[in-house]
Amino acid sequence: MSKDYYQILGVEKKASKEEIKKAFRKMAHKYHPDKKGGDEVKFKEANEAYTVLSDDKKRAEYDSYGRVFSGAGGQPGGAGFDGFDFSQFNGFGGAQGFDVNIDDLFGGFSDIFGGGQRTQRGRDISIDIELSFKESIFGVTRKVLITKDSACTRCAGSGAEPKTGTKTCTTCNGKGQVMESRKSPFGVFQTVSTCNTCHGRRVVPEKPCTTCKGSGVERREEEISIAIPSGIDNGQVIRMAGAGEAVAGGRAGDLYIKVHVTPDERYHKEGFNLVTDLSIKITDALLGSEYTLETLDGKTKITIPQLRSADEILRIKGKGVPMESGRRGDLLIRLKVEFPQKLSKSAKGFVEKLKEEGI
Ligand SMILES: [Zn+2]
Ligand SMILES: [Zn+2]
Repeated sequence: MSKDYYQILGVEKKASKEEIKKAFRKMAHKYHPDKKGGDEVKFKEANEAYTVLSDDKKRAEYDSYGRVFSGAGGQPGGAGFDGFDFSQFNGFGGAQGFDVNIDDLFGGFSDIFGGGQRTQRGRDISIDIELSFKESIFGVTRKVLITKDSACTRCAGSGAEPKTGTKTCTTCNGKGQVMESRKSPFGVFQTVSTCNTCHGRRVVPEKPCTTCKGSGVERREEEISIAIPSGIDNGQVIRMAGAGEAVAGGRAGDLYIKVHVTPDERYHKEGFNLVTDLSIKITDALLGSEYTLETLDGKTKITIPQLRSADEILRIKGKGVPMESGRRGDLLIRLKVEFPQKLSKSAKGFVEKLKEEGI
């Protein structure tokens, strides 16, 4: 459940096959991954939407259930969510999270069916995740257990006992919604609401599923695998579309994951560069030396050249934050020259010699 294929293609629910085809061509042209400015996720999404909406049978199933049961284009295994949406990471790693306004989300959704019926949507869920600094740099997959309303595993959310068919709902005569007259001091109101018998699906199972009693939804603990992308910042939010609460006859809400990154004692991030400080002895600053540095990639041997000033920065290319392109930023090592706490008598003699030389 969950993806709105009509919204993805930017067409109306009653769009003709021709209109759908046209919309898909436009999207495919715009988002093709081989093109500059292409977007693979959007391209795949559009492709999936077109696969379903261009097929009469799949489209009818999708219209009734919000998902497809007959082969490709549907969600494998009926797991009830449809993957990730990193679309908010425009510019990837651009260090800006975004605020989620639940009202906007609901408002936005009901607008899709402008003037038409209001489709039910499951609740959004938000959770917090703690990451180490290293995990935030390289990305990590986290598994979380969430107890929530999910698509029933027995009937894959259809509400029908497996291997049984459906019939037109008699409560709403297959309209999915019912008209009610309500008396009020101002007169009689006609209100349209989603049919409680079929939950707006227009059809009811011939035999309701024994697990969910026909709702298509069951509350259970679900393990959700969250792939945190590399280079994520503290406070950023990941949205997993459709991984929120399921709802009978509607599409599932979304899961929002707020990321908290524990700062590292030695490293911090500046854009795509990793930055650290390294204290070196004054003699190494004058003569050059080799140091072993504990980096996020493990121990690394670095060569300190003879320094020309007290606060030089060494740059190790390609050991910084991974970028979407697969390249990495640089590791910047800010050298701090350590002065000796005290000088022995002989050391003092050497320094005085240096002084005589004008150093
Ligand atoms: Zn069921
Ligand atoms: Zn009905």
